[in-house]
Amino acid sequence: MLLTTMKKKQIFGSTFKEQLKASARDTMLQFVLAEGEVRGALIYGTKLLNEMRTNHELGIMETIILGHGYLGGLLLSSSLKGSERLLLEVDGDGPVGGMAVEANSFGEVRGYIETKDPSLAGNTVNLDVSSYLGEGTLSVTRYLEKAKHPFYSKVELKQRSLALNLAYFSLQSEQTPSSYSLSVYFNKRAQVVGAGGLLVQAMPGAGEKLLFELETLVNGLPSIGKEFAEGLSVEGFMLAYFSKYNPRFLHKKRVVFMCHCNRERFKTFLYALPGKELNDIIKRGPFPLRLTCYNCNTRYEFSRMDFKRMCDTIQ
Ligand SMILES: [Zn+2]
Repeated sequence: MLLTTMKKKQIFGSTFKEQLKASARDTMLQFVLAEGEVRGALIYGTKLLNEMRTNHELGIMETIILGHGYLGGLLLSSSLKGSERLLLEVDGDGPVGGMAVEANSFGEVRGYIETKDPSLAGNTVNLDVSSYLGEGTLSVTRYLEKAKHPFYSKVELKQRSLALNLAYFSLQSEQTPSSYSLSVYFNKRAQVVGAGGLLVQAMPGAGEKLLFELETLVNGLPSIGKEFAEGLSVEGFMLAYFSKYNPRFLHKKRVVFMCHCNRERFKTFLYALPGKELNDIIKRGPFPLRLTCYNCNTRYEFSRMDFKRMCDTIQ
């Protein structure tokens, strides 16, 4: 098969796929609370996390960890505009070696996880989520429209979950008090039936007491994924838990697992290899040559004929 762009794998089981289709309402709702003292975003991401899991062929723990990364990356992207994008990277010495997630202002997210502990890939929950990152760093690179260079900032991993580390990051590197809640909820058959993420962030001049109250509220929320699985909408969730703070909904946009990789880009990568390496590949193969996109796990194949033709155009 000659793939020219990202391929989304079929989600397992036709019944489950139908259910997901019916609940395909992945979205990001942006809002303000307390007459604009606080801004925020709430993501409904059940379908996109299922697609992420299926494409990357992830076990339960990996789905939770990378799922938190996707939701966190999207929440960070809620302040981007135009063609802006960002890269969230976690580099730790825990069972998860690293994770890289890209999100952009169009609500698109992609990325991958590197696991050091093979048991993470299994379909069992055998690890305390609080120990999965270990010690290391969390960094965010923002590619902003008006800036000449990417804006990079990094903090040490200090907390036991990605949500708390993101809050620490926002405070340390941006001096913006923020609270995050990230949630991936499974049914008894180990299927992701609800996934959601919430960001609540202070605007300049927000009152200390209000921020403390909201932080306590966000950290004590029940599983957002479970609430979504039980039928709550994003607006319904905000009204159920934040009505005291008079939520005002600004706008909603779609969020989606999307990678813009394509065959041509991989060809460009091959073109850039030194001539000696290209000749080696022609001689030894193996063919078909398989190149896999890290971000979406789509595999592009090049036959010997494709490859030789390509090399002939270079030499
Ligand atoms: Zn890709």
